[in-house]
Amino acid sequence: MTSSESDPLRVAVVGAGPAGLFLVDALLKAKDHLVSVDVIERLHTPYGLVRYGVAPDHAKIKSVITTFHKTLEDERVRFLGNVNFGTDLTVDDVLAHYDAVVYSVGAPHDRRLGIPGEDLPGSLSATEFVAWYSGHPDHSDIVHLRADAKAVAVVGVGNVAVDVARILAKDASELRGTDIPQPVLDKLAASEVRDIYIFGRRGPAQAKFTTKELRELGELENADVIVDPDEIALDAASAAEVAAQQALQRNVDILRDFAARTPSGKPRRLHLRFLTSPVEIVGTDAVEELVIERNRLDEHGNASGTGRFERLPMQMVLRAVGYRGRALEGVPFDGRTHVIPNALGRVLDASGQHLPGQYTAGWIKRGPSGVIGTNKADANETARALLEDAPQLPRVADRDPASVDRLLEARGVKVARWQDWLAIDQYERTLGEREGRERVKVTNFTALLDEIVGKV
Ligand code: NAP
Repeated sequence: MTSSESDPLRVAVVGAGPAGLFLVDALLKAKDHLVSVDVIERLHTPYGLVRYGVAPDHAKIKSVITTFHKTLEDERVRFLGNVNFGTDLTVDDVLAHYDAVVYSVGAPHDRRLGIPGEDLPGSLSATEFVAWYSGHPDHSDIVHLRADAKAVAVVGVGNVAVDVARILAKDASELRGTDIPQPVLDKLAASEVRDIYIFGRRGPAQAKFTTKELRELGELENADVIVDPDEIALDAASAAEVAAQQALQRNVDILRDFAARTPSGKPRRLHLRFLTSPVEIVGTDAVEELVIERNRLDEHGNASGTGRFERLPMQMVLRAVGYRGRALEGVPFDGRTHVIPNALGRVLDASGQHLPGQYTAGWIKRGPSGVIGTNKADANETARALLEDAPQLPRVADRDPASVDRLLEARGVKVARWQDWLAIDQYERTLGEREGRERVKVTNFTALLDEIVGKV
């Protein structure tokens, strides 16, 4: 069956992050198909990790929001925020009201280190810390920076670790022009953090950060970057790898430049450590010390301990060792890889058969890797599969978008509409204008919406 103007293909996209919105964009651009899309989102706000993951001082990366805004503004698209998939709207509900559904919910969990002391106050995931400084509503009532923290360890050498370390290494005055929420900025302004450590368990050739992000660490106004030349020495296998890959060579060159520098006495120090693994977090009521073990690499580039330990005074430990996908109620999930099993975005059941009308995109499809733009190609792949299948997809009987609204209303769900987001957006911009900033993020929408809708 093909879709017509009066009867477009009804699609639900679960998750209004980059993957979901790139996917909607691809569906809207499809020439031979007419679609009507509902974007179902747990939060009141769209844009997922672009709003709540990209660091506040990386405004350029956030500019993709302009494109996403246009996508969501399209008359064929409805934004249904504050709708919790799994409870407010179940799999059965979406399968009854839409011809196709795309799960693009990201990977919200963090991985753990599995070492003693990991649950002490002051030890937390970078995911939580990022959510806090990004003004994520789930973290609006919590302060994730210990007031007495002087030394903070960041574990892992991916871009999340670099983001977190950079934010800690900056003076609050450097973040004042960003969209960072005011209470967070106030806490950062009072920060006593002077030493920030990044620990990579392997060497520079195996580090996951990108060159641009690494280079930025050497340009910090208020922090000296410190690298021990011995820790970036390459073994033969790593040297061969670096010689074969330009990006790795650039990283190593930058690290050698860092190692050759003499600290200039800036107020903070950012220590980039390699071949070191945290093995224990020590403390009575909170983190007091971090025990690390020096590692060596085998010929495959895997790390193992040398039995040489170091104890460092530390008040916080942030693990930035990757994200992990979470199962959605009623949707197939691979408990080993933490993704939705799929072939080119088509969701597969336990026997490897495509579940008709069910698709996936983004981190929950491929795992937590790549930059924001990586999700475009990923979403395009899923959109192609969906559109290819579209003529054969059975059409649901109830095709009225208002049926979903009635269902949600009957369940007492106060849906946040596109207009509500526009009101929040305007409110944040107005707050920003007063302080010469583009916007200042607010974090508690439930209370705010009643107050601001129609008043900005
Ligand atoms: P990631 O790039 O996968 O890095 C995770 C790091 O954690 C790796 O260095 C890994 O080391 C380490 N690790 C894992 N388990 C560990 C353990 N038990 N002990 C010590 N270290 C451990 O993940 P991410 O930093 O969370 O980033 C996720 C994705 O978002 C990445 O693709 C990243 O590029 C992207 N991102 C991009 C930006 C940007 O563009 N500015 C910003 C943030 C995030 P091994 O290699 O040894 O496993």
